[in-house]
Amino acid sequence: MPVFHPLESPAFRPACELCREAGGVLVFQSVQWRVIRAEDAAFPAFYRVVWRAHVAEWSDLSLAEQAALMGVVGAVERVLRDALQPTKINLASLGNVVPHLHWHVIARFDWDSHFPAPVWAAPAREVAPAPAARLRTGLPELDARVARAVAALAPAA
Ligand SMILES: [Zn+2]
Repeated sequence: MPVFHPLESPAFRPACELCREAGGVLVFQSVQWRVIRAEDAAFPAFYRVVWRAHVAEWSDLSLAEQAALMGVVGAVERVLRDALQPTKINLASLGNVVPHLHWHVIARFDWDSHFPAPVWAAPAREVAPAPAARLRTGLPELDARVARAVAALAPAA
């Protein structure tokens, strides 16, 4: 598993948790972005693609940077589709709570606790056995597949 290092940059904001910490299980880190898996018991296949430098808004990135980041989002999505055959993939960039640019990439299932509502809505049902146990692929293998897919897109250090 890679080790998180905060970005040494004038953009570093000590008060921002995505500047200070990985924000979940660190799956892969490039010079520009990182992929983490949120540790969410209800949604085990919940990844985030985080821009490493502190910017708040999508339009703070250049078009080339946006294209690079969306390539990573798409690569994570493809792995989740291939490995898990989810009912749906949810992509979202909100940043209302942590205004440091990141995309959520979430595999959703018609049996999950909130489907068809967003993961941030009120739960619709209880799920048993635990959601992670219902996935077709274990989380360590899923993390490894995501890491291999996005490593191919990493810019040179
Ligand atoms: Zn930040």
